[in-house]
Amino acid sequence: MPETQDPHVNPNASASAAVKFVYDFTEGNRDLKDLLGGKGANLAEMTNLGLPVPPGFTITTEACKVYLESGAEPAALRAEVSEHLDALERQMGKKLGQADDPLLVSVRSGAKFSMPGMMDTVLNIGLSDASVSGLATQAGDERFAWDSYRRLIQMFGKTVLGVDGELFEEALEDAKRAKGVVVDVDLDAADLQGLVGHFKDIVAKETGRDFPQDPREQMDLAVRAVFDSWNTDRAKLYRRQERIPGDLGTAVNVCSMVFGNLGPDSGTGVAFTRDPASGHQGVYGDYLQNAQGEDVVAGIRNTVPLADLEQIDKASYDQLMQIMETLETHYKDLCDIEFTIERGKLWMLQTRVGKRTAGAAFRIATQLVDQGLIDEAEALQRVTGGQLAQLMFPRFDLDAKSKTIGRGIAASPGAAVGKAVFDSYTAVKWSRSGEKVILIRRETNPDDLNGMIAAEGILTSRGGKTSHAAVVARGMGKTCVCGAEELEVDTKSRRMTTSDGTVVEEGDVVSIDGSTGKVYAGEVPVVPSPVVEYFEGNVDATAADADDLVKSVHRLMSYADSQRRLAVRTNADNAEDAARARRFGAQGIGLCRTEHMFLGERRELVERLILADTDADRDAALDQLRPLQKADFIELFEAMDGLPVTVRLLDPPLHEFLPDITDLSVRVALAEARHEKHENDLRLLQAVHKLHEQNPMLGLRGVRLGLVIPGLFAMQVRAIAEAAAERSKAGGDPRAEIMIPLVGTVQELEIVREESEKVIAEVAAAAGVQLDLALGTMIELPRAALTAGQIAESADFFSFGTNDLTQTVWGFSRDDVEASFFTAYLEKGIFGVSPFETIDKDGVGSLVRSAAAAGRATRPDLKLGVCGEHGGDPESVHFFHEVGLDYVSCSPFRIPVARLEAGRAAAESQGSDSR
Ligand code: ADP
Ligand code: MG
Ligand code: MG
Repeated sequence: MPETQDPHVNPNASASAAVKFVYDFTEGNRDLKDLLGGKGANLAEMTNLGLPVPPGFTITTEACKVYLESGAEPAALRAEVSEHLDALERQMGKKLGQADDPLLVSVRSGAKFSMPGMMDTVLNIGLSDASVSGLATQAGDERFAWDSYRRLIQMFGKTVLGVDGELFEEALEDAKRAKGVVVDVDLDAADLQGLVGHFKDIVAKETGRDFPQDPREQMDLAVRAVFDSWNTDRAKLYRRQERIPGDLGTAVNVCSMVFGNLGPDSGTGVAFTRDPASGHQGVYGDYLQNAQGEDVVAGIRNTVPLADLEQIDKASYDQLMQIMETLETHYKDLCDIEFTIERGKLWMLQTRVGKRTAGAAFRIATQLVDQGLIDEAEALQRVTGGQLAQLMFPRFDLDAKSKTIGRGIAASPGAAVGKAVFDSYTAVKWSRSGEKVILIRRETNPDDLNGMIAAEGILTSRGGKTSHAAVVARGMGKTCVCGAEELEVDTKSRRMTTSDGTVVEEGDVVSIDGSTGKVYAGEVPVVPSPVVEYFEGNVDATAADADDLVKSVHRLMSYADSQRRLAVRTNADNAEDAARARRFGAQGIGLCRTEHMFLGERRELVERLILADTDADRDAALDQLRPLQKADFIELFEAMDGLPVTVRLLDPPLHEFLPDITDLSVRVALAEARHEKHENDLRLLQAVHKLHEQNPMLGLRGVRLGLVIPGLFAMQVRAIAEAAAERSKAGGDPRAEIMIPLVGTVQELEIVREESEKVIAEVAAAAGVQLDLALGTMIELPRAALTAGQIAESADFFSFGTNDLTQTVWGFSRDDVEASFFTAYLEKGIFGVSPFETIDKDGVGSLVRSAAAAGRATRPDLKLGVCGEHGGDPESVHFFHEVGLDYVSCSPFRIPVARLEAGRAAAESQGSDSR
């Protein structure tokens, strides 16, 4: 064994006596979540607030870590637990499992971050053959005692001893059937006593040992089982999904039992201090009479709405309402609560700041400001760009009556409608002929990529949030519902069958909701989100009758805008996108891709340019392209008048403008077979062969094109300059920035710059206007980042092309890897998230940081921006803020997200400065 001096990790070190592993509920508080877990910290907080919490103690996450690392509990733990157990027994006036009057406890998991349902809890620890009748006598209720005992054996058997839970369920069902009843409350004491016998037999048969009768042994085994539950597969998967670190460990709470199963004046429930779905204030929760904790959520009997508790037990209800108010005021946020009523006495068993929907998050944040509980800076931290993005998706019109035929995991939001297709080939074929399709598969794999791209949405019957379908769909921003298990997908006969027997054939219309996971038969009408209507300027958020969600969004956006330091620009290639982006708050264009202007009818001109044999031919082609480009730029400068527009010169490899090599070969071969001669096709084919590249991403593209195709960049620069001159003369305020892509060395940039400056000067002189056009470059190659200090000599600005920079830093091409091995990497935890989604701070990010610093060292006024998709990703925006860039640029729909997150980043760093 390796020697180590750290008392936290060496179970045998005598120094470990200095570490405290067990805290009484009275000793903790809510700031100790690292050590006591969320549940333990909040139990302590409630205890100290004077709320009725059953006494108990918490074993720390540190103890768990020692156990997980060494395989044994820290040596000091046993004695410390004994000490706290003694104290608890003295306080309660009875001993754990004492025969005539047993103290019973629950042993509950509770990590720093809530992992609902992922780990284990065992109730009624301390009951045994010896103490069950003592419990019955004390409670004056035979049935209750046997019910508690059977619950213990069931939970303990399953979670601690690893017995298949089904076996207990079946035995319980058998007992109910034998008695002719449907719910467990109709089993009497004798039935339950019989069931205990059965359960003990099951334990003995399945584990080869008897159910442990020693109360302390029960407790110790349960504690260990909770430690172990940190590392179950489902817990690991959940943590990866939620990006919770794997080494935190869980705390264990030992809490004296209170009983909701003592008859009709007892019960158990859950409550929220406001509606987690809408954020509205009111009474929200469920209550179940004569039941123990798990029964509420397990859905074995019908719960009643919490409001009904007022009729059932007014005193407890009133007390609960008061406690909820105390908690909200104390936590200054929505809280969720578990409680139990034992013979008319209310007990608090758990609270935490509750999860909520995106809409509720915005409403609650502003409500709390209005109540004076938090300020606006804090309110901004209570919402996220991800939530805002969710609110912007179009929604299904829920007033329309539509038939739900299934439900899966909401893997990628959106509302998609289309004809059902069951294979990618059909998806592509139908979508080419203008049909909207939903691709339905059991699971997707890399072969389905084309179909996924062609489809409006993707539906699978297998797989979870990290399945191939989910990961790829999220990457593409495509609606996806996965793991809809009740749907029987039969790809061979091209149909799917729902649980009620409805058959959906190929071509039938289905609708899927990626925000709720619901699947509908037929077409559900779609309505635009009110939040988008607001950003579009179609609704007035300050009007008295404005939707309260829109009001909340407006308030928080305004505050974010007042705080942020990063400007937000858009990626847009045409006037329409530019205008929308501007409505959404864009402060300019960060990336206009000129290649999109070369497609469609203009493709022919590009072909002519590529095929040109002589300077004259080439110039002729360029002369025809220039006015077209110029017209595009005039529109764009007009739409963004007064704001910067960064135009990137031609970037992609030329073969992208030529016909597909296979199609063309076939055409030429067929023509030859018919003894026809198509001179142009033959020349094209030659060109295609010549331009064919093994790795086009690393081939002849970007600035390299500009340097080898004479006149190409000059034509583009001239078009930009002429457009700017024309706008100026017309009284406009064009602010063009010319951006050279894929520069690896300053020499490339120098040549292009010199040529461009000449062209601009010519245009300015001819037009008689002054043209201040900025010339800068993208930083998207590692070499550019590494020599940024030199490159800045020739650049007025840098724009980090983080998509290509990610590809070139990692050495993989996005198109090839996302569909092939990313799922595996995500599952293995090599990536917490795709580096194309959130910037890889350690690798790509560190190049951005150093290049920004080197560039500014050369040229202090160097403007710095980002035009990769990361510009619209919340976490990445925070990083760019921190690195000190001037702006991010993203697609029009991400602009509000970037604005919000830039504001949050600024408010957050201000907060930490003043701390
Ligand atoms: P989870 O984290 O899965 O909610 P908990 O540890 O909160 O697990 O416990 C599961 C259920 O048992 C909850 O409903 C809880 O309120 C209930 N419970 C836990 N401890 C006690 C106790 N000491 N007395 C009564 N009910 C309890
Ligand atoms: Mg709980
Ligand atoms: Mg690029």
